[in-house]
Amino acid sequence: METHYHLSSTLEQFQQQFPTEEACIDYFFQTKWPSGFSCPHCGHSRAYITSTRRLPLYECLQCHHQTSLTAGTIMAGSRTSLHKWLTAIFLVSRTDQGTNAVALSKIISVTYKTAWLILHKIRHAISTADQCTRLSGIVQVNSAVYGKPYNPYFRNHPQEHYLLAGSSLNIQGEPSYIKLKLVPKIHIKEKFFQRAATLDFTQKHIESQTSSIEFITGRFSSKKFRALLAFAAKAGKYINNTFHGIGQKYLQHYLDEFCYKVNLTLHEAPIFQHLTHLCTAPHAKLNFFNPQNTRMCA
Ligand SMILES: [Zn+2]
Repeated sequence: METHYHLSSTLEQFQQQFPTEEACIDYFFQTKWPSGFSCPHCGHSRAYITSTRRLPLYECLQCHHQTSLTAGTIMAGSRTSLHKWLTAIFLVSRTDQGTNAVALSKIISVTYKTAWLILHKIRHAISTADQCTRLSGIVQVNSAVYGKPYNPYFRNHPQEHYLLAGSSLNIQGEPSYIKLKLVPKIHIKEKFFQRAATLDFTQKHIESQTSSIEFITGRFSSKKFRALLAFAAKAGKYINNTFHGIGQKYLQHYLDEFCYKVNLTLHEAPIFQHLTHLCTAPHAKLNFFNPQNTRMCA
């Protein structure tokens, strides 16, 4: 049975749509196996279901492999209900605001530590999907700074983080997929990006057969990079409003979360559904553009 899920816009609407654990189990099932059960081991479509456990257990009728909705996913081994997981996914997927561990722990009644771990795992799935997706076609990259808005000195301020903002462009020349990546401090010398910074970015984030790559790392940018730099500025605001000042340790995860939402918005794709896909996929080794494809990426 195919059910169409409308995008809930408020937490109240979300809770009305998914009032019980069963409703969430159904939704995870449909996301994981949209055309019915499929054995992860042999691909057989029929299973014996044991429903006496907290989560249903599916035993393949052909090879007897046992699996569950969370096996091999970021939720594997978690004792937190799927209802709480789905609530966290909903809260992360809102475009107008993010969520942090303090807020989540209150909403789903778990400890701060559990809430932190749930968010960390969701962000890990997002970052992994981004690592598997490279910029391609016509690519523009510009330097940016997160943190201290104005620092006239030549030395880097400890709260100043250097970024490379990259984008694939569509045929209209507008950004179609963006990335904001922290540049390691060793690749910055007196505020200047060393060649290693652009080489590292190219190697990790740009498709090798890209038709054109344009890098700007100087003090002055070009007009055509304006849209890209606006995203970097917005990311800074989003991160400050959601996480209230943070260290460098998890900054890359927060930047990836911001870009993930921007990229889905650019493609007019529903974030909640996409994020549920990422969270129900084995190993979360997914390509952004093809969440059904579970092939491992390098
Ligand atoms: Zn099987």
